[in-house]
Amino acid sequence: MTFAIHGLAVSRGIAIGRAVVVASSRMEVVHYFIRPDQVEAEIQRARTARNAVIDELRRLQEEVPKDAPGELDALLEVHLMLLQDQALAEAIRNWISDRLYNAEWALTTQLEIISRQFDEMDDEYLRERKADLEQVVERILRHMKGAASPISPPMAPASVVGTAGGQQLSLDGTVDTPLVLVAQDLSPADMLQFKSKVFAGFITAVGGKTSHTAIVARSMDIPAVVGARAASQLIRQDDWVIIDGNEGVVIVDPTPIILEEYSFRQRQSELERERLARLRFTPSLTMDGQRVELLANIEQPSDGAAAVRAGAVGVGLFRTEFLFMGRSGNLPGEEEQYRAYCEVISSMHGMPVTIRTLDVGADKPLDKAQPKDYYLNPALGLRAIRWSLADPVMFRTQLRAILRAAVHGPVKLLFPMLAHRSEIEQTLAQLRQAQAELDMRGLVYGKVKLGAMIEIPAAALTVRSFLKYFDFLSIGTNDLIQYTLAIDRADEAVAHLYDPMHPAVLRLVAEVIAAANAAGKEVCVCGEMAGDLSMTRLLLGLGLRSFSMHPAQILAVKQEILRADSCKLAPWANEVLDSDTPAQMMLP
Ligand code: PEP
Ligand code: MG
Repeated sequence: MTFAIHGLAVSRGIAIGRAVVVASSRMEVVHYFIRPDQVEAEIQRARTARNAVIDELRRLQEEVPKDAPGELDALLEVHLMLLQDQALAEAIRNWISDRLYNAEWALTTQLEIISRQFDEMDDEYLRERKADLEQVVERILRHMKGAASPISPPMAPASVVGTAGGQQLSLDGTVDTPLVLVAQDLSPADMLQFKSKVFAGFITAVGGKTSHTAIVARSMDIPAVVGARAASQLIRQDDWVIIDGNEGVVIVDPTPIILEEYSFRQRQSELERERLARLRFTPSLTMDGQRVELLANIEQPSDGAAAVRAGAVGVGLFRTEFLFMGRSGNLPGEEEQYRAYCEVISSMHGMPVTIRTLDVGADKPLDKAQPKDYYLNPALGLRAIRWSLADPVMFRTQLRAILRAAVHGPVKLLFPMLAHRSEIEQTLAQLRQAQAELDMRGLVYGKVKLGAMIEIPAAALTVRSFLKYFDFLSIGTNDLIQYTLAIDRADEAVAHLYDPMHPAVLRLVAEVIAAANAAGKEVCVCGEMAGDLSMTRLLLGLGLRSFSMHPAQILAVKQEILRADSCKLAPWANEVLDSDTPAQMMLP
């Protein structure tokens, strides 16, 4: 039966594929793809674990005391029957050979399918057999955990879908059907695990438009819907699913007519992409000749190449925290960071690279083990610069690595979430100390421009004092909106209140742009607002000439700029600012 689930559109495009539902299972299970040449070994691994459990249960059966209740023996018999069920064994084999799932993933996938069938049974006795099946599967999983795998799993934490043994898996060559991931929640670090585009799209039950999970999806340029609350309950393993990332709709089990319609739309967006690609080398100028700088936001050193391909003229935001995530506390040292920063600098061929210091905390935990409610209110707690200043050794390690990398190309150093003058002074003192440490070690380092993120209303309101200390400003609209409107950007329950067009937000953004322009200092918007086509003209009208966004958004924004006349936009933008209902103001 066809049905639709509504969520938030966070990453554009249409994806059509079969659902891979990653259950928030009570068993911690690794999910990864194996290589085709590993199929037999993986099937054997599942078989060996199953046989070991059969032996174990048989031994138990023999040891059952004579006076034990008869039910015990009957129960063991049921478990043995389930274990020897040919249909179960065959289904697991199929998941491994057809989908290249690792054995644990194959087992839990099949468990879920059978569990649903049990749930639908009228007979209460049979319905209760589900618990037996779960116990049996758990026993097999325990055996697998104990026995060393002949195939090395990915360097990923449990429950993460990754690529086999760290090798990138091309679906084209191995599995024909595109897969879409359905999960209750995914951390930004989880998302990075499948950055190799194993999945054609993804759906999560929780999350907001500018949650970091959504941001990473956009950076991967794959269709995504978050906040689709019932998705992981309603969508079943292997269901056909359409993700409409433009509208925030998920269509489950579509009819052939619906499929045809969405395949058509999918082809249309491909054509649109190809058309936009022609703008790559076109200079980014408004109709009245104003030059507008289009920069890239990146999360990993290897993203630099995509930035260049998209025609970015530099990196406007390198979110370095992704280098630090999912490493179980084993943070990257100075040398490792230095190499990562050098990689980005070299991939940008002399174009400027803005490196932001660590911004962890809130919805970007360093590790999965760090529970979400680790702090009383994570978004207002120890995150970003507060975290760095609380751990100056870690902070200066990062600063030294960035300063050393700056020898190899133009680097701009950006600090997140500053609000207080004391924080600015402490940050600059740490920078001086990092330079002194490099001097003491006799290491060369480069000159960097210094910038502050303006993403807390307090910073926007006191922007003039920021201008005294910094060479440039970067407006983080994601957090600026979150903190101005008091809504958690990762919480789908308040996502409808996340409004970039709120008059208070617009006034803060406008004042920061105007103050920086008046002082002759560079100002950029690097929050998601910069890649939002509905905001391009307004930002141009407010005097913004530097936008930083995911590479996938650059060409569409450039098209918008090419069609804009900044002379007409400026007076209109002022009217928008004066309006109580700016969202209703028509474009000139
Ligand atoms: C922002 O807050 O707008 C921003 C760019 O930083 P992040 O999304 O990483 O918090
Ligand atoms: Mg921010």
